Amino acid sequence: MNNSKPDELVFLPLGGAGEIGMNLNLYGLGPKGAEQWIMVDLGVTFNDGSMPGVDLITPDSAFIEERRENLLGLIVTHAHEDHLGAVPYLWSRLRCPVYATPFTASILRAKLIEADLIDQVEINIIALSGSFTIGPFDFELITLTHSIPEPNAVVIRTDLGTVLHTGDWKFDPAPVTGPSSDIDALRKLGDEGVLAIVCDSTNVFDPGQSGSEADLLEGLSAAIAECTGKVAVACFASNVARLETISMAARANGRDVVSAGRSLKRIERAARENGYLKDTPAFIEQKDGGYLPDDRVLIICTGSQGEPRAALSRMAAGDHPSITLGEGDTVIFSSRMIPGNEVSIGRLHNNLVRRGVRLVTPKDRFIHVSGHPARDELTEMYQLVRPKISVPVHGELRHLNEHAKLARKCQVDTAIVIENGAMVRLAPGDARVIDHVPSGRLSQEGKRMVPMGSEIHKSRIRAMWHGTATMTIAIGADGQIVAPPQITTTGLFENNSDPILLEAIDVARHAATGAASTVRRDNNALGEVVRVAVRRHFRNAFDKKPVTTIHVVRVQ
Ligand SMILES: [Zn+2]
Ligand SMILES: [Zn+2]
Repeated sequence: MNNSKPDELVFLPLGGAGEIGMNLNLYGLGPKGAEQWIMVDLGVTFNDGSMPGVDLITPDSAFIEERRENLLGLIVTHAHEDHLGAVPYLWSRLRCPVYATPFTASILRAKLIEADLIDQVEINIIALSGSFTIGPFDFELITLTHSIPEPNAVVIRTDLGTVLHTGDWKFDPAPVTGPSSDIDALRKLGDEGVLAIVCDSTNVFDPGQSGSEADLLEGLSAAIAECTGKVAVACFASNVARLETISMAARANGRDVVSAGRSLKRIERAARENGYLKDTPAFIEQKDGGYLPDDRVLIICTGSQGEPRAALSRMAAGDHPSITLGEGDTVIFSSRMIPGNEVSIGRLHNNLVRRGVRLVTPKDRFIHVSGHPARDELTEMYQLVRPKISVPVHGELRHLNEHAKLARKCQVDTAIVIENGAMVRLAPGDARVIDHVPSGRLSQEGKRMVPMGSEIHKSRIRAMWHGTATMTIAIGADGQIVAPPQITTTGLFENNSDPILLEAIDVARHAATGAASTVRRDNNALGEVVRVAVRRHFRNAFDKKPVTTIHVVRVQ
């Protein structure tokens, strides 16, 4: 370590800056190039449909993997997938202790059991509002409100100043589950002096307040009261407060609650383990739900975004194992439409309407509030904390830019808009971007992680657009073809007797026999000559450039 260099405090997002999803934030402290690092959150994002064969995507953590002996710990702010979902996939590359509050730790533990990592990962459970120290960093958690139990802001105190990393939050005076936001702790922190805030930008374009979870009971009860048949309410499984409110609204209408979906079961278990849902009767198993009269049942289900494997999509398609929906039944969407999901949600709505199901959405009734701060809440946060520097995160570039403008209006000296990979020096001196490090995305494909945009994905896309053709040519010792070339294709022909396919075999034969004798002696050169000819043949025939592979086999 070179101690002659002055210490710096830097912030470096490798995920979540310039996008909503897969958060990975790094804070570094020490002489430049020899920092000690801590990570805040390690989440996933989902394929937006642009890459075939990809489901789950994580940040590319290569930068910190190379420095993992200087990575002192991972603090998880809350249990949403975009904040902890990548731990099972990337932890083995990082191997650092993890810090989380009890509910978040329960969710993480369940994931690590599934990934067979539970015996390896050190999970340190921190109480709500707890303080702890890792190396040169002192931490304090501040309880906020969001759409899941135990959302924590992380106060990071260092010799060079204090940072407030907000995580996802809102100011909800009546969050139904858990305490309301600890406004006093934020004000005290502001009085103490805050160098920088790294803050949620999701709803920066929404005016006013996000609204309170407790206010939804009335709208949900009224929506359910209008129903005569079965009622299904779709929401995010992790929104434990919403589960409680829906359950209250159901009971007010004389309905018993059935839960449908594996993730709901997991969340219910973690919530009850940690003392949440105390006044909510246990949900009835979905397999027993079919025995209740239609007007006495309410089904809580996942799949509000049209996810094809989720319970609601299966009910809409009529292939749910135990619950059917039809004429006279109602589906209430207690969730927002996440941008990018419009097509799949549209398909889900159409499938339900086709079965005669009535739909109620947040456009019809007050049945959903967001878990992220609207503009007035952001302003209040700035008034309480009074940071010198603002680094907006958890937003696309347009959100970050708007958030920076709002921060400047709130008397913040320096608001810095950055995307993944930009390293910001917070102290000493003026805050600014001092470096750009490699960042990217990995797709989870079974046990391996594949860099997005790699040759694997490029060739997969080429094969999808153009099809594939694989040919085997057997060449004798004299350089002549000794057996008819064999060809296999995907995405090109209905059957093996297509004339263009048969012509391709002739094209290959001509190309091989017409090649110079030096080429015919060299397998690679001969393969290439044939490949070019066969590919040109397909291109001329139907304007496709299939991924073409030629195997040349020597027969002695
Ligand atoms: Zn988030
Ligand atoms: Zn969240």
